[in-house]
Amino acid sequence: TPPLALSLEDRARRAATIARNNIAVEVKDLRKAYDGNRVLDGLDLTVRIGEVIALLGPSGSGKSTLLRCINHLENWDSGEIRVGGRKLGFDEKERKLTPRAIANERANVGVGMVFQQFNLFGHLSAKENIAGPLRWVHGLGRFEAERRATELLDRVGLSHRADALPRHLSGGQQQRVAIARALAPNPSVLLLDEPTSALDPELVNEVLEVIRRLAIDDGLTMIISTHQVRFADEVADRVAFLNGGVILEEGPAHEVLSSPRHPLTARFLSVMD
Ligand code: ADP
Ligand code: MG
Repeated sequence: TPPLALSLEDRARRAATIARNNIAVEVKDLRKAYDGNRVLDGLDLTVRIGEVIALLGPSGSGKSTLLRCINHLENWDSGEIRVGGRKLGFDEKERKLTPRAIANERANVGVGMVFQQFNLFGHLSAKENIAGPLRWVHGLGRFEAERRATELLDRVGLSHRADALPRHLSGGQQQRVAIARALAPNPSVLLLDEPTSALDPELVNEVLEVIRRLAIDDGLTMIISTHQVRFADEVADRVAFLNGGVILEEGPAHEVLSSPRHPLTARFLSVMD
């Protein structure tokens, strides 16, 4: 398949469609501190269904923490997060939930996550990395789980590597398996935390292509943190630039990246690739 390049017209058409969609993720006045160090400092973010948003910003600006909160891996001090209209939150009652119950709730809310270091199970084949959690966490039978894993491996172009262990796959292939695994329970939103940062430069494109296909062919909503400006430009509809736990500037990817308004955004972009 030829690489997918979106023209400015394509981008405008996508933006117009997305603007009419419902809200997928809404973050309001989110605050979180570690030992008095304010990591999220009243952050607001709205992401519409089908939108791909890239979070840029210096190291320590709060990108991973924000994603971990949206995935409910972390608690926060105040503010609200809604996914598909459902409010997430650990109140006093929910704090007594077992880890299993929290995992179930997360699965029901429909958020999937992909990490910089892939986090695959090293002793399981590519296919079992996908089918296993479908059985253990989502209660699918062996046949159904394997059918779904096979279908997802095909979608990320790795049918021929189904039986390979992670250490026999390239970094790009491992990340594609991790994406397939995150998609297996059919999340409404996929969060990707620096998905290409651990990859050799020549392996970035194959992961970029998979992410683009998900955006264009499947209309998947994605929030992607990255420090690779070119990657953000090629994959995102919109970029948000974080600094000090707030969004300093956001807008259409092309606009913000080519003519940033905030001096800190401009300075950040000038030192990036
Ligand atoms: P980014 O992903 O943008 O690099 P992070 O969200 O990882 O930023 O981190 C934001 C800030 O929060 C950093 O200053 C980091 O040191 C701090 N931080 C993150 N996780 C923890 C933790 N578990 N305990 C204490 N401080 C943390
Ligand atoms: Mg991070």
